[in-house]
Amino acid sequence: MTEQPRVLRFAIIGAGMAGILSAIKLEERGFTDFTVFEKADRVGGTWRENTYPGLSCDVPSHLYSYSFAPTPDWSHRFSPGKEIQAYFERVAEEHGIADDIRFGDEVTSCRFVDGRWHIETAGGHHDVADVVIAATGVLHQPRYPDIDGLEDFEGAVFHSSRWNHDVKLDGARIGIVGTGSTAVQMFSALVDRAGRLSLFQRTAQWIMPQENPPYTDEERAAFRSNPEQLTEVRANLTRMFDTFANAIVDADSPEMTMIAGMCRDNLEKNVHDPELRERLRPDYRAGCKRLVISPDFYGAIQRPNAELVTEGIDRVEGEGVRTRDGKLHELEVLVLATGFRTDAFMRPMSVTGRDGRTLADEWAARPSAYMSVSIPGFPNFFMLNGPNGPVGNFSLIEVAELQFDYILQLVERLRVGECREVSASRAAMEQHEAAREEAVKKTVWVTGCRSWYLDDRGIPATWPWSFDRFRTEMQTPHEAAFEYR
Ligand code: NAP
Repeated sequence: MTEQPRVLRFAIIGAGMAGILSAIKLEERGFTDFTVFEKADRVGGTWRENTYPGLSCDVPSHLYSYSFAPTPDWSHRFSPGKEIQAYFERVAEEHGIADDIRFGDEVTSCRFVDGRWHIETAGGHHDVADVVIAATGVLHQPRYPDIDGLEDFEGAVFHSSRWNHDVKLDGARIGIVGTGSTAVQMFSALVDRAGRLSLFQRTAQWIMPQENPPYTDEERAAFRSNPEQLTEVRANLTRMFDTFANAIVDADSPEMTMIAGMCRDNLEKNVHDPELRERLRPDYRAGCKRLVISPDFYGAIQRPNAELVTEGIDRVEGEGVRTRDGKLHELEVLVLATGFRTDAFMRPMSVTGRDGRTLADEWAARPSAYMSVSIPGFPNFFMLNGPNGPVGNFSLIEVAELQFDYILQLVERLRVGECREVSASRAAMEQHEAAREEAVKKTVWVTGCRSWYLDDRGIPATWPWSFDRFRTEMQTPHEAAFEYR
């Protein structure tokens, strides 16, 4: 308590949703000495990288916005990706943080030496900061499928998050591998354009029908003239999503039964051919995998130029995809909507904490963090949307906002000189992990499916309690859970 308040320098890694948020909130609190490191040449993160046809957010736009930057202008309940990207660019611009971003240079390493973080970039830049905020996103390293012959394909082949906009789609024979949220969104968007559209399904998905109506000019004008209406819309959506979040963590809840019923009815009522219906019927419970939301996928898959391929892929050849029954599916374009390396987080960046301990050592088995924000032995290094945090069908923006306010309370201890270093204690992390691993047993994620929520042991790498409990936990860090030096 004897020291003067410190002027802290921050390094924020990533200028996506969470990095923009961090920069704005730091400024707001009077922390003006920071740099945002961004490997690309624009802000936006996942919304900059994903540009596939049909991209939208399956969280309603009025909920998928910063609490401090609501906008009356959303075009749809679930607005398209381009509009979301424009929103982040505008918010960054309006808050004047563009000058604080170092674009086009990737951080390759962060090393904790003598109480400060030394940061190196691919371009050879060196920086030193007291606090690092890793706002590096969750779903950003493409997962390429291990399919023989991919390199032999003579048409265009690319991952869904690396869309090649030079490729002609109209009238083309297009194949999509995968049936996650990405594949389903792009399938509906491409079916009218493709000559023939084939969906290579390894696992069927439950589809929750959700209409996506546009907001009328009158509605937008009303939001503009009466901001209370905007607040009300957001509050209603928050209640709705809380119900959903609470349902999935209690597999036997009546709400979960209701959601399962809605998905089943959607399949029964909207897929007319009984044989196709059975091929589209998952053999696991709704919500076990991340629920896919779509108002029109079943319509799209029944179009005359659409094809559902459930025979496994044997290999890719020059002309297309050969399935295990020996059939060649001739294609000109092959899209790999095969998801992301969800355990990467800030890696491949190398991080070295106290006493030379590396993140590679710390996460050798799998990623972990106390409350998903702090790693024992990595002082003054905090993550937004880090390991085992809430990742259900709800707004990661709210998650990041809550986490950031929590982190700022720890930072305040550094600022006022209560300590020079703060990180979670190992005991707190281990207790938290043990409680988490017990609680996941009740969730719908463990009811018998393969999904990206599951870690290498089959344990969901997620927050297994209610969203309200998360809000409560994020209000104040538990004093005893952290080590202060
Ligand atoms: P994903 O949910 O991980 O789905 C990947 C798909 O690829 C699965 O169907 C998987 O099949 C299939 N696959 C992977 N390897 C394969 C192989 N070798 N052969 C055949 N099929 C293979 O990925 P995603 O659809 O990109 O979605 C990832 C996450 O991004 C979502 O869960 C969501 O959180 C987020 N997202 C959100 C939105 C949004 O609107 N907010 C939109 C898109 C994505 P199996 O099921 O058999 O493993």
